[in-house]
Amino acid sequence: MGIRQTNGRGRLYDSILDTVGDTPAIRVNRIAPDHVTVYVKAEAFNPAASVKDRLALNIIEAAERNGTLKPGQTVVEATSGNTGIGLAMVCAAKGYPLVVTMAESFSVERRRLMRFLGAKVVLTPKAQGGFGMYKKAMELAEKNGWFLARQFETDANADIHENTTAREILADFEGQKLDYWVTGYGTGGTVTGVARVLRKERPDTKIVLTEPANAALISSGIAQERNGRDVAAGHPAFEPHPIQGWTPNFIPYVLQEAIDGSYYDELLPIAGADGIAWAKRLAAEEGIFTGISGGSTFAVAMKLAETAPEGSVMLVMLPDTGERYLSTPLFEGIPEGMTEEEAAISASTPSAQMAAE
Ligand code: PMP
Repeated sequence: MGIRQTNGRGRLYDSILDTVGDTPAIRVNRIAPDHVTVYVKAEAFNPAASVKDRLALNIIEAAERNGTLKPGQTVVEATSGNTGIGLAMVCAAKGYPLVVTMAESFSVERRRLMRFLGAKVVLTPKAQGGFGMYKKAMELAEKNGWFLARQFETDANADIHENTTAREILADFEGQKLDYWVTGYGTGGTVTGVARVLRKERPDTKIVLTEPANAALISSGIAQERNGRDVAAGHPAFEPHPIQGWTPNFIPYVLQEAIDGSYYDELLPIAGADGIAWAKRLAAEEGIFTGISGGSTFAVAMKLAETAPEGSVMLVMLPDTGERYLSTPLFEGIPEGMTEEEAAISASTPSAQMAAE
């Protein structure tokens, strides 16, 4: 094989925002069984390194288009993770102040990341959980006339996946087989938006949805209580789970369309520990670095592969980068100091032998 060459993108970018989307679908070459072909859609290629950059950009631009967001108006949202980081990136690029409300229980690196991107972070008591941060964001919006982003309820969420993520999948698999598309859900924006298109344009593609085994809200069959689009109470099937970004303690309005419209062919639960194990293998054996939700989605694909027909082609969503999880269970057991094996490597050269003398 000759030396690789690159040729540029053939364009200049007017803004970081123009680099959102068009993430690559990448074949997995070593860890999937031979009778299937597995691709991953690596959302870490977005500028703030997650799938939520798409939603963040469209929440702001939809509100600009319909006039609900005025120049210089402050944006506020309750978020512990990728949505806040995406919104911070978009607000920084467009010059809107951003206030994020977040329970004090979430990792310190998330607060610091959002502040680094210019956002203000307002902490809410741990005891009040997700609802406390949500209520604080609503209060701040009402009191100050700020724009509330509403990722769990807004049409801007699924719409952007219909218009970008889904279109990218159609284009990349044009003229190619695609038997399974696998995803989890947080807000449900990804599954709802992509499924709207796949159901019409690729009706043979099986849509496989997954959720944490110990927080299987959809599988429970218990309907979510709502007031209009808003949640009226936490869902009884919820338990805390390690798959950050997936399954909040309620069924979001954005996801309800996918449930009501039967947008998925299979709903498979996955244990967080399996997701972590597969995220580690993707990183260490494929060089593909993703978070716990990506590992969990991939774990479901590997389960499907056990019974999938010879020659099946799968596409697996990987929502973000593993780098966002340094202080979480994903990195538990990854040592800081030298292991015995590493110490032995170190001891094998003359400088180590001299130091020992
Ligand atoms: N994984 C991670 C890490 C996320 O942050 C999110 C978004 N909350 C998802 C998966 C799920 O995406 P969606 O909200 O589109 O369902």
